[in-house]
Amino acid sequence: MRALSAGELLTVWEKGLMQQPVKRALALLTAACPEISPSQLAQLSIGQRDTLLLTLRSGTFGSQIQSLATCGKCGENLELNFSVADICTSPPTPSETFSLRVAGWDIEFRLPNSLDLMAPTSLDNQPRTLLERCLLQVKEHEEIQPIEKLPDEIASTVITQMAKLDPQADVQLNLCCPACGHQWQSTFDIVSFFWSEIHVWAIRTLREVHILASTYGWGEAEILAMSPYRRQLYLEMVGR
Ligand SMILES: [Zn+2]
Repeated sequence: MRALSAGELLTVWEKGLMQQPVKRALALLTAACPEISPSQLAQLSIGQRDTLLLTLRSGTFGSQIQSLATCGKCGENLELNFSVADICTSPPTPSETFSLRVAGWDIEFRLPNSLDLMAPTSLDNQPRTLLERCLLQVKEHEEIQPIEKLPDEIASTVITQMAKLDPQADVQLNLCCPACGHQWQSTFDIVSFFWSEIHVWAIRTLREVHILASTYGWGEAEILAMSPYRRQLYLEMVGR
């Protein structure tokens, strides 16, 4: 993985404006990880993908994360401060297929990846639809069965097992309201969080380009090639 230049990040952002989050995540990693092919990136488990995104986020905006949450009980706004290391779990088991035996059923499965999230059948957002894409073989008492025959309660057990095998795919923050003591868990989604940061950064950067280009007549590429520090000094000199 390598760091993205300001120009590269703006290009990914501009293309990503019209894309769904799963494609934005892949576009960021495709730009930053030329050593991994786009199809390999798309086949990484969601936890593996998110591990790479957290690394890219650290290299882009630093390793500290500041976020906001609202207490569902009293409405207090909480400022959350944590580091990328705080939410990094151990990497998933380095295996492509897994098996589980439960209540007479033998299930072979793989972990969900970006292709599964992009599949038209997964767009209804039903865990069962996503699960069925990841089931490789289902047997009841040693006999192969159609995947649809897997009972819902066994399917839930497989989904729970998938989450355990790929913990980085579902980061839960344990929160406690300082005003009323209410405790709850909140999902931290690196894709939407990182994208919101990139969006704010892109708008601010384009505004800086606009000010410097209209003041000095410099081109966009040369302004973007400056370090943020030098750009900031010029902005101060023109009183912005
Ligand atoms: Zn509260």
